Amino acid sequence: MLVVMKADATSRDIEEVVRVITELGFKAHVMPGPTRTAIGITGNRDAIDSSHFENMHGVAEAIRVSKPYKLTTLDLKPEKTVVRVGDASIGDHDLAIIAGPCAVETREQTFAVAEVIRNSGAQFFRGGVFKPRTPPTAFQGLGEEGLQILAEVRERYGLNIVTEVVDEHSVGLVERYADIIQIGARNMQNFSLLRRAGRSRLPVLIKRGLGATIDEWLLAAEYVMIEGNYNVILCERGVRTFSDYNNETLDLAVVPAVRSISHLPLIVDSSHGAGKNYLVTPLARASVAVGIDGLMVEVNEPTSTRLNNVQELTPDQFMQMVSEVRAIHELIFP
Ligand code: PEP
Ligand code: MN
Repeated sequence: MLVVMKADATSRDIEEVVRVITELGFKAHVMPGPTRTAIGITGNRDAIDSSHFENMHGVAEAIRVSKPYKLTTLDLKPEKTVVRVGDASIGDHDLAIIAGPCAVETREQTFAVAEVIRNSGAQFFRGGVFKPRTPPTAFQGLGEEGLQILAEVRERYGLNIVTEVVDEHSVGLVERYADIIQIGARNMQNFSLLRRAGRSRLPVLIKRGLGATIDEWLLAAEYVMIEGNYNVILCERGVRTFSDYNNETLDLAVVPAVRSISHLPLIVDSSHGAGKNYLVTPLARASVAVGIDGLMVEVNEPTSTRLNNVQELTPDQFMQMVSEVRAIHELIFP
């Protein structure tokens, strides 16, 4: 159920509704907006009788939500969510750019790439230190040592750090060093991990699972939000198809489709969806044209051979891509 308050409802009115929800044994999620506040209710198994709220002071209406997700929807919050991180944000007018290597390999490599990212004007640096690798023998990341390098990057270059978590223990570590928690495609339905991220003070970026439907993806976001963390960013990164010329297939139609349902900021990772270097920039251009809030892209030193360097852009390619996507963004959202 969703309780929509009148435009002139006072904070006392809102508190009263929250009190009734809590007394019924449910959880209240207050979503203030410029025109009205809505209060989402979770924790109920069966339908709630709307008469609990209908006659309360300041209540406009109590609406039954038939969809399995409640907190991610435009019904609850018609305005887009803007996730703010320091001076930067994701979801407002500007195009956010999150770039960096697939993995933090060495301090030198990470600093060299960070300098390029900073010079491009991007606000976010990415780099994995906990790597979910298909073969168990493959490089799994530097762990906490890598987080220390990322914290130095933030200090020196003023970039906000986005890095992946793989289990509850790594969330605790990432919280100490980074600015945004990334949940990878392979963990999109790791429900205990999602709940743990929901109890964090950091925003959470959720990659779409390799075979996830929109409903499954939004329900992953719902797991985080139900714990009280409403700073969630969705990231399309390609899904499995029959295509055999790339890794996964970037699903750009999902961008307007999710927009029609959810208020959450939506970004595209054009690197993992491509899997090949020459596909990354064209897909980035198309992603920006389709109306995303941000772009994630892998960039590395040309000499690195460690992980995804078949898909990572070189610094020169990245700089060129940034100028192209900014021009497209400016054209579409002047
Ligand atoms: C990554 O960002 O390096 C990564 C492993 O992404 P994904 O979860 O989308 O495969
Ligand atoms: Mn990668």
